[in-house]
Amino acid sequence: MLNFTVGPVMSSESVRAIGAEQVPYFRTAEFSELMFENEALMKKFAKASDDSRVVFITGSSSAGMETAIMNTLTPNDKAIVVNGGSFGQRFVELLQLHEIPFTEIKLEPGKALKPEHLAGLDGQGYTTFLVNKHETSTGVHYDIDMISDFCKRNDLFLIVDSVSTFLTDPFDMKKLGVDIMITGSQKALACPPGISVLVLSPRALARVESTKCKCQYLDLQIALKNAERGQTPWTPAVGILRQINVRLKEIDANGGVEAEIARTAELANYFREQIKDLPFEIISESLSNAVTPLHPTTASAYDIFLKIKDEYGMWICPNGGNMKDTVFRVGHIGALTKADYDKLIAAFKDLQSKGII
Ligand SMILES: *Cc1c(COP(=O)(O)O)cnc(C)c1O
Repeated sequence: MLNFTVGPVMSSESVRAIGAEQVPYFRTAEFSELMFENEALMKKFAKASDDSRVVFITGSSSAGMETAIMNTLTPNDKAIVVNGGSFGQRFVELLQLHEIPFTEIKLEPGKALKPEHLAGLDGQGYTTFLVNKHETSTGVHYDIDMISDFCKRNDLFLIVDSVSTFLTDPFDMKKLGVDIMITGSQKALACPPGISVLVLSPRALARVESTKCKCQYLDLQIALKNAERGQTPWTPAVGILRQINVRLKEIDANGGVEAEIARTAELANYFREQIKDLPFEIISESLSNAVTPLHPTTASAYDIFLKIKDEYGMWICPNGGNMKDTVFRVGHIGALTKADYDKLIAAFKDLQSKGII
């Protein structure tokens, strides 16, 4: 089945081939070497400073979000968090759970972050800023340059969930002054789910050093100690780490992160151009290349999702909660081509000709 969701997504043939192999033993120099390669390529593609470090956690990206909070924030912090949808809400709930004081910038679905949202927050004693660079649930891509300027001006520790836009939209960790970047294996890395990746700036490393993590499994002090020799404290998802290695090297060989972003942008633009005559409205004020969020004006979004799945053998991405019937999303990440989008457009046009949409 063709998969146009936002994860898990389609993997390349070489990534899938690894999935068919036996999983090797991993307390070896060979596996350590592979992990060092993964770390170097992650830093290269995130444009992290040389003295940044990378941790690979076995768990999905939500584990990465919680790991970042548990290892760098304390009840003495005062955070600002952007909440424009279900992933922003996840950060809010994590801050509540871990008793980190915070102010929430709540945005209506589809709305962009604007200077007026930050206006009253300068010089108010905040220490930390958390944002999902792209709120995947509604497809809103926040202005990270504006956030970066605000954080530099106020000397804030900046945690960025780049889970759905790492490799799809430009991101320069060093230039933006980002302290922790979080991503995961099943989004644009286009591998199976199961690994979350954290890139940590020197300032984040210092915070980890001085923060007591109340969870052994997700303790970054232990993880970083092990990573010095290319290892993880616990048995990781070895197979997925091997697939990530193949994928990162593939991107490197094909022109690097810029080429991968350009490829994704081309697919997104191609799709957006083709749907102009269909009864769909783009709901986001500010789009990333990763996904197109659509409101169908003539039919239930969930019914369209079911029809595309059951009658045409393709997955588009349904929305949950109160957007179930009003919004579906079409992803542009993973091993997809223009010919794949032609098939999806043909299915939409077929539904239109039958009067269903
Ligand atoms: C997918 C995603 C996550 C993580 O979800 P998991 O189900 O834990 O992988 C977090 N943030 C954003 C913005 C995402 O798109």
